[in-house]
Amino acid sequence: MIDLRSDTVTKPSEEMRAAAADAEVGDDVYGEDPTVNELERRAADAVGRDAAMYVPTGTMGNQIAARVHTDRGQEALVERESHVYKYELGGFAQHSQLQVRTYDGGANGAPNPEQVRAGFVEEDLHRAGTGLLCLENTHNVKGGVPVPADDVAAAARAAHDLGVPVHVDGARLFNAATALDTDAAELLAPVDSVMFCLSKGLGAPVGSMLAGSEAFVEEARRVRKLMGGGMRQAGIVAAPGLQALENRDRLHRDHERAKELAAGLDALDGLSVAEPATNIVLVDTTDAGLTAATLLERCEQEGVRGSTFGEYTIRFCTHLDVGKSEALSSQSESADSDDVDGEAIETAVAAVECAL
Ligand SMILES: *Cc1c(COP(=O)(O)O)cnc(C)c1O
Repeated sequence: MIDLRSDTVTKPSEEMRAAAADAEVGDDVYGEDPTVNELERRAADAVGRDAAMYVPTGTMGNQIAARVHTDRGQEALVERESHVYKYELGGFAQHSQLQVRTYDGGANGAPNPEQVRAGFVEEDLHRAGTGLLCLENTHNVKGGVPVPADDVAAAARAAHDLGVPVHVDGARLFNAATALDTDAAELLAPVDSVMFCLSKGLGAPVGSMLAGSEAFVEEARRVRKLMGGGMRQAGIVAAPGLQALENRDRLHRDHERAKELAAGLDALDGLSVAEPATNIVLVDTTDAGLTAATLLERCEQEGVRGSTFGEYTIRFCTHLDVGKSEALSSQSESADSDDVDGEAIETAVAAVECAL
């Protein structure tokens, strides 16, 4: 089975398992887990922030950020198809008593400065005011689209001019940095906080990082405790996270595989696929006369998995385990792993063709 449902389906490598087994640990709620401390230092460096904090999930990281940045009753300005708005159970309302106001980020999901100003609400006797602007990079629903540094900076400048802090949901931040050929720290220089996932394209079994200023992270630690996210000997799960950071350098391969997959699928009758910039491939099934759910059911029979992303939209995600099970079963130990990935993509395209 070639599982392209998500880049979260990867399993920890032997090296990650060994790192977990050998991790030096302590009680992280006391700040005494050396492995977590090391991960937090390296993560902060990777995104050019003063400090970072390990969290169990990206969702928790985003939720903590919202809580730290805002006051009860304020508005958060979020993209209309963003993860924080659509897929976090209304957490901004539940955890931080915020109301959300949406902007339409268009093709890459970022607001232009005019949209930031239009969405801004000034605090007065009747209105609680805008407390936060959220960006998403890469933007998942738009198809893993990276938001370029200029757009991030323009949106952040507009928000800051209005006294509004900016948080980036960077679940796939390093996919963005890779695709843009930009340093992640540079991409984030104009914003106040960022969350990125270790457990997606970077391949860790568990965990995300929330980074910002020293003061922001200090307060974030209190909110993490409040949400029940204070973990004890967390070095066991943080150790694979350290290895995951090393996987930043191989993300370009996932992007190349995604382009191959997209080209292969686009050439099939009935499917329409735009060239992806990162590791997410969105497939329009309209012309095939099949809903995403129906085609995916048939794909499953043929040995490929994806996710429904709309009635006539399928999402396929490339990741570092694509082709791994095939490589093991054919015992092609000497084969270059890039070639194995490539074969898996060809196999996936052939399977979708049979399913049509
Ligand atoms: C996956 C994802 C998250 C949340 O990560 P979890 O670790 O699954 O909670 C947040 N934002 C985006 C854009 C994501 O894709």
